[in-house]
Order: sequence, then C-alpha cells, then structure tokens
Amino acid sequence: MAKNHSLSTTLVHAGRNKRVTQGSVNPVIQRASSLVFDTIAEKKHCTKNRYKGELFYGRRGTLTHFALQDLMCEMEGGEGCYLYPCGAAAVTNAILSFVKSGDHILMSGAAYEPTQDFCNIVLKKMQVETTYYDPLMGERIAQLIQPNTSVLFLESPSSLTMEVPDIPAIVKTARAVKPEIVIMMDNTWGAGVLFKALEYGIDISIQAGTKYLVGHSDVMIGTAVANARTWSQLREHSYLMGQMVDADSAYTTARGIRTLGVRLKQHHESSLKIAKWLTERPQVKAVYHPALPSCPGHEFFQRDFKGASGLFSFELTQRLNDEQVEQFMDHFKLFSMAYSWGGFESLILCHQPEEIAKIRPNITRKLTGSLIRVHIGFEDPDELIEDLKAGFERIV
Ligand SMILES: *Cc1c(COP(=O)(O)O)cnc(C)c1O
Repeated sequence: MAKNHSLSTTLVHAGRNKRVTQGSVNPVIQRASSLVFDTIAEKKHCTKNRYKGELFYGRRGTLTHFALQDLMCEMEGGEGCYLYPCGAAAVTNAILSFVKSGDHILMSGAAYEPTQDFCNIVLKKMQVETTYYDPLMGERIAQLIQPNTSVLFLESPSSLTMEVPDIPAIVKTARAVKPEIVIMMDNTWGAGVLFKALEYGIDISIQAGTKYLVGHSDVMIGTAVANARTWSQLREHSYLMGQMVDADSAYTTARGIRTLGVRLKQHHESSLKIAKWLTERPQVKAVYHPALPSCPGHEFFQRDFKGASGLFSFELTQRLNDEQVEQFMDHFKLFSMAYSWGGFESLILCHQPEEIAKIRPNITRKLTGSLIRVHIGFEDPDELIEDLKAGFERIV
C-alpha cells in the first residue's frame, strides 16, 4: 500500500495484502510453533530472512503477526514493530534492550506506576540508575543528562495527573547534549496516532495495545514501533528475552485498529463535553483534560496532538473522607471501577492526594483534593453527566 494515505484510510487498508488475507478481508489466523520447510534450500532462505517476513519459527511470528506489524509500522511511521504479551512487557523490554550495568536512564517522574516500580526494583538490581525528571521541565532536562545516560523515557500525557510535556524541546535538547541517547515514549494515551512520536524524533513509540488498539477490554498486548536506528537491537534483544504474542491476540488487535479512527473521534468529543461540564461544578477545583487550558502543558497539547482520547482526571475542592469516597464511588449506574481503560465502556477511579504524592516523589506540583480519573466510553454523554451529577449530590 502507498505510504501517503491519510490516517483513516491507512487504518482500514494497511496490513491486508493478499499473502496475509488469502482472499478474505481480514488476515488469516495462523497458529503455529513449527513452520515446515519442504527443502534444504527453502530452510536456508527462511532462516536467512527470518526477520524479513519469511516464516521461520512460531516465536518469530506467523502471517497473522506480520499483518499486525505491517499495520502498526504504517500507522506510526516506523521501520519495525515488536509485539509483546502486554504493555508492561513492551515498556520493560524496550528499556532492557538499550541499557547495561553502570548506565543511567531518565524517566518521567509522573510515569505509569509499574514503569517506575520496574526502574526502582529491576533496573536498580542491575546497577542501572534512574533519575526522575519533572515532565514540565522542558529543555532544562539538559542538566540531568550524564555521560552514561543511555535512555530517555517520555510519557505524554502523564498517567493520572495528565501533564503534557514540551516534547520537541526535550528531544532537541537531549539530542544536542548526547546524540546517541535512545529516546522512547509510552504513547498509549494517544494510541500512537494522536501524537506521531517518530515524527518528533523519538526512536521508539510504545503502547499498551491493551487500551485503544484492542479497544474492547478483552485482550492484552504491547507494541513498540522503532525507527531504523533502533529497530534491529530492539528486535533481537526482545526476541532473546522470549517476547511474543499468540496469533489470536494479534488478530484481535488488528481488528480493533480498523475502527480506531472513528472510536478516537467519539472519545474526543464525549470526553471534552463531559470535561467542560465538570469545569462548572462547584465541587471541582480543576479539570485535567489536555484539551482544556486548566491542564498543565495544554499549550503543548494544542501544538503537537491531533486530538484527545477519552481518559482524563479532575481534582475535587476537598479531600473526600473514606465514607465520602464510598458514597461517591459505589453507586454509579454507568461508570464502573476498574484499572485499565481504552474500551467502549466508561470507567472511574478515585485517588487521594497523598497516594499521588507518594508516586510523584520528585514533582513539585501538589494536589490537595481527591483526584478522580475517568475514561469516557461510548454511552450517551448526557446520561454519563447525569450519573456524575448524582455522584456529586451524594457528597454534599
Ligand atoms: C495500562 C498501561 C500500561 C501497561 O499495559 P498492560 O497491557 O496493562 O501491561 C503501560 N503504560 C500505560 C500508560 C498504561 O496505561
């Protein structure tokens, strides 16, 4: 397929060549450990071209995996895409592929909590040191780069607190100080399409495909799309660490991506409508939706992102006590409480300011009220507003 199609066309057509579809609309589900060679010559050819789309051994993927990998590369503009069993595996294996004992990495101080835990526990054990930076520090990040800094890890917007960093400034400064630094980003919130990481000089765009790519809360998968500079190292290290995904999950993910464009448009529209409504509630101190000026880094969102997804948070004027938390959270009719997000359904979680402070030890921005994180799904937004309204009435 030509590389110059618009995003919506790419999402429908990419990764569907005749070899993988065999005449149907979707790719075949090819489940395999062994892949059979008819001749010595064929075995030689497939072994030599095992990471160039020839069928070699199940762990290198089958036609189903190749279809999803092609689709991801076209969608995010990369050289190659590695598939992992979940988003956490994509994050950790991408980092592990580029660090060695004695190295130093820069990690967003507002990153997804398990990513921070991985640095604090696993990388520490390997003598890889982590410095957490403030995502809003922009080009002042230069001061934190050391001679042994091998990886700079970004996440935008931040988990829970939603800060949007000035990524072009951070990338430009980091490259100027240390050209060979590997820059990776957890790009889950924007599904790899609302923010085109590789176009901004980032080497590897990582996603918990579990969220928007799958889009139906029923499959776990991780993806990492790499540029030409980093692809072979990411691929070979991840392969050696035994990372792979079953064909059925790869199939379901590709199927989810076919509707990603229209789903994101609806997430944007509904989440913004509800976020705007929230800004006018007396119980709400501030709404942290990247498309609203009250979100830290909103100006960078406006400049760099093509739209918003369905996940945002808002801070209440008060810190709810335990009883109020139960009153507020236990009785929603449409919002469910769950970790994860990115499906068609609306979700809600409550975090206390001291819990947030604990996972943001190096960040000056402090919250005082309870933080409510919502994921806005495809229910009627007016009915979601009614549900939230009833929640506020329970805590007056
Ligand atoms: C959910 C999530 C992950 C982890 O993904 P899993 O598939 O649950 O392992 C990583 N980063 C972010 C930002 C997430 O929201």
